[in-house]
Amino acid sequence: MPGLQDVLDEIVAEMATRQGRGEVATYIPQLGKIDPAKFGIAVALNDGEVMTSGDAEEPFSIQSISKVFTLALALGRVGDVLWQRVGREPSGTPFNSIVQLEIEHGIPRNPFINAGAIVVSDILLAGHQPREAIGEILSFVRSVADDDSIVIDRDVAASERATGYRNVALASYLKGFGNLNHEPDLTLGVYFHHCAIAMSCRQLASAGRFLANSGRSESSGHTVVSSERARRINALMLTCGHYDGSGEFAFRVGIPGKSGVGGGIMAVVPGVASIAVWSPGLNKNGNSMLGSLALEQLTRRMNWSIFSS
Ligand code: GLN
Repeated sequence: MPGLQDVLDEIVAEMATRQGRGEVATYIPQLGKIDPAKFGIAVALNDGEVMTSGDAEEPFSIQSISKVFTLALALGRVGDVLWQRVGREPSGTPFNSIVQLEIEHGIPRNPFINAGAIVVSDILLAGHQPREAIGEILSFVRSVADDDSIVIDRDVAASERATGYRNVALASYLKGFGNLNHEPDLTLGVYFHHCAIAMSCRQLASAGRFLANSGRSESSGHTVVSSERARRINALMLTCGHYDGSGEFAFRVGIPGKSGVGGGIMAVVPGVASIAVWSPGLNKNGNSMLGSLALEQLTRRMNWSIFSS
């Protein structure tokens, strides 16, 4: 097997030469200010070692990757009754689509499209003020990453709150169908803030390790989620983690992964490692263009696809 550090360094060198890097998201104005030339990658191996290359220490907006953490937290809070309010099927539609919600009577297809994640935020808000729910999510992310320096980028949250009209529409629509227990504005406050968590590739790879390790955090020795739940979250990441690009990601990369419009992807090689990659330019599905390519090269060279024997 090739040396992992060499493979990471070679991927970073190759990505630096690429011309087509996709488009940085501008619908959240604060994200539009990010340098598209940034590229970082980190691999957190199950034995505790973290290997990095490129801009792997620089925090970026994790956006929809946060939906993996809120799902894990909400399942811990309410268990499988969550599935009465959110489905588990790939949507085949863009992350912010509203059309399916009407046809399916306000039950979002899965927890990773925006509508599904807004319902998950609503579950986490139960019995709390938005501030407390946001604090609980941040504490959870810090604990799985074993890093208390992780913060929420308030400017990104404010930027999305000021312009997130589609999410306002989705939340109102969910409320209209009776699938939101709080006022849309309060639930969206939780949603926008968890999307605005800023993490580096190193922190994100470390945070995903429990999913590669049967639900256990290696640093604390604690069980974060049961092994069955970790397996199911990984299954959802594989089938739904890249929205209408999920099939393509499974075909090319072959491991569970969750993307965000900040250009990050967190991916899991069960039993082996958790990976984070960051390149801000997005493809037409809103997934990191070079991030997907880098993961494709990494899984091919390390023979990490879950479909290879
Ligand atoms: N906060 C973003 C939004 O709601 C998250 C989308 C994403 O990362 N795909 O539009």
